[in-house]
Amino acid sequence: MPIHEYECERCGAKFERLEMAGDGPAVCGSCGGPAKKLLSAPGKPRMGGPGGRETCCGMAGGCDNPKRCCGS
Ligand SMILES: [Zn+2]
Repeated sequence: MPIHEYECERCGAKFERLEMAGDGPAVCGSCGGPAKKLLSAPGKPRMGGPGGRETCCGMAGGCDNPKRCCGS
């Protein structure tokens, strides 16, 4: 079963949860707030706008060569 990463929308805590069929919405283990699933893939460059240079590796401002600087 896949494990997904979640982030609490209330306190910002991050946690992982095993994805099970029939489970309800994920809730934060710290504060009980609602948590959203993170579609994070570490090292994967995010191609935003035209040219794919808007953001890279989570940095603001982008870079010239996402493939190189992201190491993937
Ligand atoms: Zn929380």
